[in-house]
Amino acid sequence: MTDRKDYKLFISADIEGITGVVSWDETETGKPDYPYFRKLMAQEINAAIEAALECGVTEVVVRDAHGDARNIMPNDLHAEAKLIRNWSEGPMCMMEGLDEMFDAVLFIGYHAKAGTPNAPLKHTYSGRIFDLKVNGLSLPEAGWNALIAGHFNVPLIFASGDRALCEQVRELMRDVVTVPVKQGIGRACLSLHPDKAHQAIREGVTRAFAQRALWKPYRLEPPFRLEVTFSDEGLAWRAQWYPGVKLINERTMLFENSDFFEIMRCFSFII
Ligand SMILES: [Zn+2]
Repeated sequence: MTDRKDYKLFISADIEGITGVVSWDETETGKPDYPYFRKLMAQEINAAIEAALECGVTEVVVRDAHGDARNIMPNDLHAEAKLIRNWSEGPMCMMEGLDEMFDAVLFIGYHAKAGTPNAPLKHTYSGRIFDLKVNGLSLPEAGWNALIAGHFNVPLIFASGDRALCEQVRELMRDVVTVPVKQGIGRACLSLHPDKAHQAIREGVTRAFAQRALWKPYRLEPPFRLEVTFSDEGLAWRAQWYPGVKLINERTMLFENSDFFEIMRCFSFII
């Protein structure tokens, strides 16, 4: 353990795993209930920030990582946080803005991977991907984004979202603190009241900082093997023109490299 202070914290936030959210309509600009749910997204992020500031964090960067990446209204966010909006179109994607100067990463509002039962709004990056694997491990966005953080030597220490997401994170990274704010039941969903979700997130983030000794960047062994199975064969056919990509069946592409940044670069071009 350490009494070190002045942590620099990176938060990547999605909306599908925010309490109460069950439908794409609730996550899309222009739809009637979206203004309400975008506020809940900001509130869950703020709950995490409040707890983090009490644990010695002095700098916070929030990456808005859903849809058009313009969900969090600047005034809705905690005043101590800086906000990254819009897509850069570069390979950092949902982790844009992260570098090796950060001490820890949190995920808020995250969701399970494509094909997960009892998981609201599950998908992997887009509806175009059926499965994403690195070194044979099937990953949710949380796993992929944790690998990006690991590439910069920064540990994921906390994730909140639906119960299935939490199970998928713990399966990959057993020491990450996870807080489920809801649980899918088929297409239905049982959610905590927002006040209780905020409380659970504050407690979870506090726990994550208390177990500093268990923080560990998430990394896999090189050489890396990126396998993406698409929802249709046309997407795989298109992906094969990226240098070094091979098709291993009509819907699945393979790319191998020892530099994880090259894996990130490939992924950003083929999705
Ligand atoms: Zn999203």
